[in-house]
Amino acid sequence: MGFAESTGAGISDVHSHLQDGRFGDDLTVYFERARARGVRRFVCCGTSPADWKKTAEIAKKYPNVFPTFGVHPWNVGRIDGDWETALKIMLDATLSADGVSGAALGEVGLDFAVRNLDAAAQETVLRTQLEIANERKLPVVLHSVRANDLTLKILRDYSKVPVWLLHSWTATEAEIERALASNVFFSFSPRCVAPNAVRARETVAKVPRDRILVESDAPTPLPPNGYGKPLSQIASFAVEARDSDGALLSAPASVVGVAEEIAAIRKTPIDELYRQIALNEKRFFQCWPTR
Ligand SMILES: [Zn+2]
Repeated sequence: MGFAESTGAGISDVHSHLQDGRFGDDLTVYFERARARGVRRFVCCGTSPADWKKTAEIAKKYPNVFPTFGVHPWNVGRIDGDWETALKIMLDATLSADGVSGAALGEVGLDFAVRNLDAAAQETVLRTQLEIANERKLPVVLHSVRANDLTLKILRDYSKVPVWLLHSWTATEAEIERALASNVFFSFSPRCVAPNAVRARETVAKVPRDRILVESDAPTPLPPNGYGKPLSQIASFAVEARDSDGALLSAPASVVGVAEEIAAIRKTPIDELYRQIALNEKRFFQCWPTR
């Protein structure tokens, strides 16, 4: 499918980090490009106390941005002071602020693939944050890498969490089945559908269709070889930002390319997939707190 005829038909980017400095301070261009391609709502995920304020400001400044606040597992070693109180204050202030689309806990989780990240400390920080979400009945945006057993246990431990977003999760069919005991959605990023991401693509093929969402995970670099098509044919590559090494960065418009690739993997017509994602999003966003 070429650039012009491909539109996202009202889908959302449910996981991004638009507060990242590589996007600069004026995000208008990224939202405009996304909207032009039919991407309407944007979940912007904080990752540490250092970026919560900017995340909150983005949600106040731009329409249809849903902010989340949390400590990402990669940042567990970098937090100090009373970060827990700061997190509660940020969540509560955002939940009661005018003109902001709710708030959730995220991006939090477990990452046992990265060396030098203490596993026990990750679990402690995650559970501290999940208590806060459980108490407030907040959605949770979860990062889980090589930690599936513990993740599946944790999903069951916090039963008042109304919805979990398992972001770019790679899992077996049995693990997917176990996760479905909780109200989970699976969101897939450009990296999950890259041609060489064999296990991630298998996950894309196996999750139930009424649980699929799409995400840019911006500004994570896009797969360097596209999706096996010439880059010029992929709209999401015709953008956006580049990092200092020249790699193309994912941005909210990139979810259109992700949806097209999910449709190809699942052998589903793209229009049918868009309709399904729109229905899924409705159920996902209904779980977000509103004032
Ligand atoms: Zn992320």
